[in-house]
Amino acid sequence: MNNPIFYMPTKIIAQKNAIKNHGIAFSQLGEIALIVTGRNSSKINGSLTDLVETLQNLNISYYIYDDVEENPSLETILKISTFGKENNVEFLIGLGGGSPIDAAKAAGVLINNTDSTIDDLFISPMLKALPLVAIPTTAGTGTETTPYAIVTDHRAETKRGIVQRVFPVIAFLDANYLMKTSKDVTINTGVDALSHLIEGYLSSNANIFSDGLAENGLKLFGKCLKEINNYKIDFKTRENLMIASCIAGIVIAQAGTSLPHGMGYPLTYYKGVPHGKANGVLLKSYMNFCSDKEKVKNILNFLEFDNLDQLGDFLISVLGKPVELSDEELYKYASAMASNTAKLKNHPSEVTCDDILDIYRSSLKRF
Ligand code: NAP
Ligand code: FE
Repeated sequence: MNNPIFYMPTKIIAQKNAIKNHGIAFSQLGEIALIVTGRNSSKINGSLTDLVETLQNLNISYYIYDDVEENPSLETILKISTFGKENNVEFLIGLGGGSPIDAAKAAGVLINNTDSTIDDLFISPMLKALPLVAIPTTAGTGTETTPYAIVTDHRAETKRGIVQRVFPVIAFLDANYLMKTSKDVTINTGVDALSHLIEGYLSSNANIFSDGLAENGLKLFGKCLKEINNYKIDFKTRENLMIASCIAGIVIAQAGTSLPHGMGYPLTYYKGVPHGKANGVLLKSYMNFCSDKEKVKNILNFLEFDNLDQLGDFLISVLGKPVELSDEELYKYASAMASNTAKLKNHPSEVTCDDILDIYRSSLKRF
């Protein structure tokens, strides 16, 4: 075995009314907070009200930036950082799905380093971010326990990770906020968490610590499959998905994601396929391509599938039809992936452009 390293410094508080019960933790982070959230959902699911009331009770001043779009752009991150600097904020609270939390991570780097520019997000790894609290309201990205922030760079026509490592200080997990989530968001984000567990487990960086967590996360996810398929999702299932997603975050914080995520980015950027679905449609073919058949078998066992076809059928049934790609698009996306060294290094063996084309073709032809 290689020499395993495990690091995950985020304090996780997972319970009903987590913010109200443990909000005192905000007082240690500063006196002026910037809440970064999406346009609507946090106002509807009760999370923004709980957060604001808690900060008011603690006499912490707060500003709200509530205009983060899905797959947040660098333009949005610049706006948040300008707003944060103007108001001298001392810490950030990312509230919502992965998009606002990632936007808060990236903006926290720029606010804390007043002379930095958006280019520094990709070239200055040593910059430190302001303290960040994450309150996820989707069960999918696991960003509450990863150091990553994924942003949309329109100049490069893709999504990419910032180079700084920004682990949230605290993650509040309350499945109550997920009860009104739409079917599409529930399924797409849930499949994102599943992709993290699978890609992290099969990664070249997987180790005994991350594998133990991935195995537990896969078992927990397996318990939710029937409910997802029939779309009968009660509080307990939401909570299980939220914990599975958080565990998946810890796994990819160690092991990273690989081909399905890298190959999914162009499907999102050019075709508007939601992030989780973009990875999910590629999973079956990716697993078929992986040479560690023992681990692939373990994944199917933990999820309680008899074979890879059953996993593929489940994904087709819940995700539905993805977009079709022309040959020109296939080659463009495959060659972008073939030069994505950050993702390729997380796959345990050599990958050629033809291998990537095969995974795209066999994934998309089934639909
Ligand atoms: P999202 O883009 O944050 O949100 C998707 C949609 O869900 C939005 O319309 C949002 O509405 C809505 N929504 C959020 N919470 C809701 C709730 N409780 N009830 C109803 N609707 C809700 O989705 P996401 O899948 O969580 O995040 C995707 C982003 O995370 C991508 O950019 C992806 O690349 C990134 N990601 C990051 C990591 C990481 O480690 N950092 C890992 C994987 C993925 P509002 O806009 O109104 O809030
Ligand atoms: Fe993801």
